[in-house]
Amino acid sequence: MRVPITGATRLAAVIGSPVRHSLSPALHNAAFEAGGLDWRFVALEVAPGGGADAVAAMRTLGIGGFAVTMPHKSDVAAAIDEIDPAAAALDSVNTVVLRNDGSTFGASTDGAGFVDWVEACGVEVVGRRVVVLGAGGAGRAIVDSLGRAGAGDIAIVNRTDAAAVAAASLAEAARVGSLDDLGAADLLVNATSVGMGSDDSPVDRRFLRPDLTVADIVYHPRETRLQREDADAGAATIDGLGMLVHQAVRQQQLWTGIRPDPAVLRTAAERELAARS
Ligand code: NAP
Repeated sequence: MRVPITGATRLAAVIGSPVRHSLSPALHNAAFEAGGLDWRFVALEVAPGGGADAVAAMRTLGIGGFAVTMPHKSDVAAAIDEIDPAAAALDSVNTVVLRNDGSTFGASTDGAGFVDWVEACGVEVVGRRVVVLGAGGAGRAIVDSLGRAGAGDIAIVNRTDAAAVAAASLAEAARVGSLDDLGAADLLVNATSVGMGSDDSPVDRRFLRPDLTVADIVYHPRETRLQREDADAGAATIDGLGMLVHQAVRQQQLWTGIRPDPAVLRTAAERELAARS
């Protein structure tokens, strides 16, 4: 049920640049409505360098929550009062909560949302051998959260020395790896942008086998070439939309104290993506 906007309505927003393409308003408003919460969610274009000003404005205006996207994740981490351990390790905040006492708390929900989704798909992380392709913002968050969730071995594969930087600064179980690590791996994560908006795959299909689960965090197209070829190899695949949904579930729980139903956010995301295609 959509609660009418009144003087008591709380506001949350995604800040970023560019931000007009964001799926977050569709996801969060659907969950606010389904939960009968007196909240609304909008997208605010904030120019590069404006992250700290946006946090100051949040305090002044009493905006209850921010989702933070490029290019503000690091600036915002430096501008808030307290951050969670994952956000501190990554120097990156994607969620800000304005507490009742006026202080701000920041979190990084991308990696934890990824682990939530993998586990919701029935794949245990504890003790598992994982190969993570990519060491950008998403790859680093996933490596950090896989480590916190107890993964046994995390081999990071990247074209540049970003893999070494991530391995040295994030999870203890993390190390620089290569595609040869796929032979003994339980889970392959594509955290590169390869396959985003294209029919490319970051891995030759000869590396895929029935007992190697693939999680591709790319969600456009909805089924990537990597997922298709992995399914052809007889293996389980995990899509990228679920990570988007589950990191948003965590965001909303931080803002409102109530965990929304992931299925509501997923339906909203699918509807929005279908409307755009
Ligand atoms: P990013 O910080 O720009 O990192 C991109 C990563 O992809 C880097 O590791 C980069 O390697 C690698 N890469 C790019 N092109 C490559 C190529 N041709 N061959 C091999 N590696 C390549 O981006 P990000 O924020 O981490 O996002 C990565 C992807 O995940 C994007 O497609 C994004 O849309 C998606 N994503 C999904 C979710 C979700 O909720 N499902 C969340 C966040 C991001 P180098 O370091 O060598 O350049």
